[in-house]
Amino acid sequence: MLLHLLGTAAYEGIPSLFCRCSLCQQARKLKGKDIRTRTSVVIDHELKIDFPPDTLLHMLRDDLDLEEIQDLLITHSHSDHLYAEDLEARLPGYAQSGEEPIHIYAHDMPLARIRERVGQTSKYVLHRVQLFIPTVTQTATVVALPAYHMDEETCLLYWIEKNGHTVLHAHDSGWFPDETWSWLEQRGREGNKLSAAILECTMGNDPDSGTHMNAAEVFKAKERLIACGAADPQTVFIVTHFSHNAHLTHQELCDLFEPQGIRVAYDSMKVQL
Ligand SMILES: [Zn+2]
Ligand SMILES: [Zn+2]
Ligand SMILES: [Zn+2]
Repeated sequence: MLLHLLGTAAYEGIPSLFCRCSLCQQARKLKGKDIRTRTSVVIDHELKIDFPPDTLLHMLRDDLDLEEIQDLLITHSHSDHLYAEDLEARLPGYAQSGEEPIHIYAHDMPLARIRERVGQTSKYVLHRVQLFIPTVTQTATVVALPAYHMDEETCLLYWIEKNGHTVLHAHDSGWFPDETWSWLEQRGREGNKLSAAILECTMGNDPDSGTHMNAAEVFKAKERLIACGAADPQTVFIVTHFSHNAHLTHQELCDLFEPQGIRVAYDSMKVQL
């Protein structure tokens, strides 16, 4: 399984729109891995998680053929994860796209936003996910789990099984809800091991915000996934979704996470499992 991380920043990007903070100024100079766009991951060229406003940039920069995407999983409706306006570009009159629909999986709020933009069309098939229930999509078996990210919306983590590998895509979220931990612990007891876990660290070394993770919570989450058997020393742990407000360069993030056996994502990073 090939994980392709297209973007690795929180909402504002790094450098952030309009910002002159120390990190944004450093990122402008350093460039390379210190430039971060809004998050999305593609698995094996055909399953995409989230549709941020930087999708055109991702397509150009990483030479993506978006027509290869068969399934699109949406985590929540924040604009850095769903820029529904750009889904309209697949409709007749804009793109000469294929006849096959892209299947989109999401909870109520993102689905409403997508429907509002694309209307009735054969270009997309929309699926409302059921929590904790495995769904066989065109490319994988997917289970949506509740995140804790805001009270107004059910935000989702995804457990994705594909070609003998299993990945946990775990953001945006603060510390996971108890029911999500119970489900993950059950998988561990049943001997389901993760090949990779993609966690978020929006807050860096800042205090716990409740709705995003900081480094201490990432370490705790890794420990708990290993302790319950859902992960083991072979599991690839990746951390992503960084905010410029945490003021950590790529190198500083590596110094923080690598000694704990966690890989720091950067834009365009590919991980072959
Ligand atoms: Zn986000
Ligand atoms: Zn900044
Ligand atoms: Zn969010």
